[in-house]
Amino acid sequence: MNTSDTLMPVIFLGHGSPMNALAENEYTKILNKLGTSLPKPKAILCVSAHWQTEGTFVTSTDSPRQIYDFYGFPRELNQLKYPAKGSSAAAMKIHSLIENTSVGFDNGHWGIDHGTWSVLVHLYPMANIPVLQLSMDLKMTPEQHYEFAKELVKLRSEGILIVGSGNIVHNLWKIGWADDAPSHKWALDFDNWFKEKLLAGDDQALVKDFKTAPGGTESVPTLEHYLPALYVLAARRPQDKLNFIFEGMQNSSISMRSFVFG
Ligand code: ZN
Repeated sequence: MNTSDTLMPVIFLGHGSPMNALAENEYTKILNKLGTSLPKPKAILCVSAHWQTEGTFVTSTDSPRQIYDFYGFPRELNQLKYPAKGSSAAAMKIHSLIENTSVGFDNGHWGIDHGTWSVLVHLYPMANIPVLQLSMDLKMTPEQHYEFAKELVKLRSEGILIVGSGNIVHNLWKIGWADDAPSHKWALDFDNWFKEKLLAGDDQALVKDFKTAPGGTESVPTLEHYLPALYVLAARRPQDKLNFIFEGMQNSSISMRSFVFG
């Protein structure tokens, strides 16, 4: 790994079922490989689908708790430990660098939820890099999230790796129970639409038109898994290269599409 003073990439990861934390498959192998190829970050800032608040907060303690925010999964999953430290110093830095919105400190109220640890367990299995989370303000519109997140680009030159963790297509009402259950057509249509707009650099469409896009209403029935992708879009620079590190669906209605800008 190189030094952490180089500009960090920005990553979107589809996280899917929490069971991916325990899995060893094509997707988890790619995360493994990605973690060894990136410059070593000073800290990771994750925007997880699973932390929404009124206002915007960053986890601010040096020892964040690991949150098991799911039910009905095997005990093994509740026993999986991802003992990463936090960083109050990095939280202070984020608070001071983001000027347009007041980013509050969570003071231990939140921690590291499964949207974060289920992917980091594969990306950085040693858990030796401080991890912070940034919440998404429930009151913001997608446009406001995108505008706010543009300021995050500053963190990349501070050695902070920004990870958006959600899913481009996420509809739990339409899931198939097997990982490899056939995908719904609307899910594939929307996932392809997203890919095309991303390749075209058409952020406006991705921020504003996703509801009316082919398969959009079924694929994004609620916003929380889609919004982390807008954070990643907003934090990229025009000269960044786009790399799709994983494409594919799980459980019929969950897109595992994951990509890196850097
Ligand atoms: Zn999720």
